[in-house]
Amino acid sequence: MDRSDVTAEPLRQDGRMPLVVRPARASLEAEQFLLANRAAIDHLLLQHGAILFRGFAVDTIERFDVVIHALTRQALAYEYRSTPRERLGEAIYTASDYPARHTIPMHCENAYQRDWPTKILFACAHPALTGGQTPLADMIAVSRRLSADCFESFRAKGVCYLRNYQEGMDLSWQNVFQTESRDEVGAICRRMGIDPQRVRESILPLSIGDTLPKAFEEWYFTGFTEDHEEPCETCELCGQEGLRYHFEICNGHTGHTLQVGSHCILQFNVAVFEDGQKLSPKEAKRKLDKLTQQMRLESCVRALERLAQAENTDILRNALDYYRKNKKLTPKQAFVVFWRLRQNQIDHAPSFFNVTLRKQRYLNDLEEMDTSRVHFFWHALSASQKQRAIELGHWPPAARACAL
Ligand SMILES: [Zn+2]
Repeated sequence: MDRSDVTAEPLRQDGRMPLVVRPARASLEAEQFLLANRAAIDHLLLQHGAILFRGFAVDTIERFDVVIHALTRQALAYEYRSTPRERLGEAIYTASDYPARHTIPMHCENAYQRDWPTKILFACAHPALTGGQTPLADMIAVSRRLSADCFESFRAKGVCYLRNYQEGMDLSWQNVFQTESRDEVGAICRRMGIDPQRVRESILPLSIGDTLPKAFEEWYFTGFTEDHEEPCETCELCGQEGLRYHFEICNGHTGHTLQVGSHCILQFNVAVFEDGQKLSPKEAKRKLDKLTQQMRLESCVRALERLAQAENTDILRNALDYYRKNKKLTPKQAFVVFWRLRQNQIDHAPSFFNVTLRKQRYLNDLEEMDTSRVHFFWHALSASQKQRAIELGHWPPAARACAL
């Protein structure tokens, strides 16, 4: 940083933060200066904890947006909210929409989240007529003032935030999660590692342990799965809807069982065993994926059996035998199978099927086939097989045909 561009000194002699940086001349462009000195500013920020830029003409949302991009790699959206804010730009919000007569107590920004921003930027568009300070607390100094015991206790146990959303108190869940869909809330919670209350209510009454980690230690996956043929079921743990497959978990002490999605088994570390051995999370995921694959294979075989029953022809019987043995269809079989499945209105998920192109003659068959026939089984092809089909002169079906 060219020190002749700016002056920099702490706001208070007795405090670490903030460092006040002022332009040395009126013509200094804030955006260019910040862009050119990002590394030096990051360094100063680490040293001082906060920087107060004073006298830079950042007076519009557009200019503030440029400053944000000059100082940060990626601006975060305000997801999982805790205060009413109005969005003014891409990642720019009002600091708070609470009435001006209230003060906001000291807090660590977004401390209740698993991920929080490493930088937060404030700009003053309209100075307050009275008051209006944005006080800062030095959390390193605050931590030092805790007794060693207390500090160690926090370190060992961590903290747990429990949030309740209700009409008239704090924000509504719709505002917090920025959605009207409860399913979407469940998905956001899983992504952020938050345990919805629904999970506590489902699991605690059926367990002996009185906390989620203790309760989940009592549960294991029984190995029993069920394919409901359509995505119409609910996870009895988190309430997620639209599940096609259920996995059964059982409490080893109370004997209670729940039908859940595999995502919940993995998220809550429900024990998955193989040959009496508890699997690691990675192995458990592999096992549940394999079971899902198996259910998909079985649903394909069931569709082929129904088809062979409806139309007792050699090619369909052969396709069924071939699929049972190889878990795949040849291109010629695939065309006939999907054409007849559709004709007979037999429920099937095309993407669950596999097609083999492993032999030269299958590639030749695919090349010689009319593209309209290839479209019948297009969705059963893998991404690389689709690419291969395109190289052989075919093209993807129009979007309208995707309902196949
Ligand atoms: Zn679930």
